[in-house]
Amino acid sequence: MIDRFGRDINYLRVSITDRCNYRCQYCMPHDGVKNMAHEELLSFEELYLVIHQFVNIGVKKVRLTGGEPLVRKGILGFIQSLSHITALEDIALTTNGSLLKTMAADLKRNGLHRVNVSLDTLKPDRFHRLTRGGDLQNVLDGISEALNVGLKVKLNCVLSKDINIDEIVDFVKLSRDWKLDVRFIELMPIGENVDYALKHYVSTQEVLRLCPDLTPTEALDPSSPARYFQLPDAIGKVGLISPLSCNFCNDCNRIRLTPDGKLKPCLHNDVEIDLRTPLRYGENIMPYILEAINVKPEKHLLDQHKTIVRQMSQIGG
Ligand code: SAM
Ligand code: SF4
Repeated sequence: MIDRFGRDINYLRVSITDRCNYRCQYCMPHDGVKNMAHEELLSFEELYLVIHQFVNIGVKKVRLTGGEPLVRKGILGFIQSLSHITALEDIALTTNGSLLKTMAADLKRNGLHRVNVSLDTLKPDRFHRLTRGGDLQNVLDGISEALNVGLKVKLNCVLSKDINIDEIVDFVKLSRDWKLDVRFIELMPIGENVDYALKHYVSTQEVLRLCPDLTPTEALDPSSPARYFQLPDAIGKVGLISPLSCNFCNDCNRIRLTPDGKLKPCLHNDVEIDLRTPLRYGENIMPYILEAINVKPEKHLLDQHKTIVRQMSQIGG
């Protein structure tokens, strides 16, 4: 489906829960976010219906996210049902990795293709502080298991002066020996974290400054927001995702669905289209889907130093 600015919208990111077993400092306030009521969340049957409609108009890739998607009971059966939609070419997941060690094999068996694991520090005490209670070893074991069972893996590392500026080189080195891509993401001012994000923002240019051996590589997927680089003789690549320092809206091919059934045409814009109400009234939801694509803005509002109301954990990143 082509939007007003000629972009082919073929990628749907679905947040299946607002719940999370971590409380990362830059993503959630200290006391967490008030949970949505269970009846507010779209059921797996409703999610399947919505995704099917999107596939009918050309969506080829779905990414499940959250909150933490692996804490939602029933996710394996849900992935299996998605795997039967033949026109859906790619089923991916973004996770904090805490439950991957036990779930990776089942995820693969039920049809998951790839997994992005969020990891911002390689130091156990920092990890514990950043996530407000997480265990780094658990996540590292989860990543190994995901690789062992044959899932494609990317590591996503949000840059922050407060957390990992002195670990950039260590993260880049991971791409040399591990069969995965390491991607650095700029911290974005979202929801209640605006002051934190402005104070601790680091441009992805810092990665290139600290690692002059990185050389640009060809982009395999032109709609990917990452620019890719590689160390000499490395197995994996290094990606830079720079929503603030290098706007990539021109090639944006995505649309998002929140856990409570709102379509978000743009991450950094408060415009939302309610799908849940028409869905539950048994209405045809296609006109609402088409409207969401039609109102997708040309670019986000970050350049104008505007932020949005929802927390990242209620959207899915
Ligand atoms: N819980 C899962 C996880 O952590 O991967 C999925 C949801 S999380 C909201 C998705 C991604 O958003 C994570 O990689 C996280 O680091 C990133 N994220 C959260 N808040 C962010 C912010 N303010 N700026 C940039 N990335 C952010
Ligand atoms: Fe949870 Fe992911 Fe947000 Fe961390 S980044 S609090 S793991 S949703």
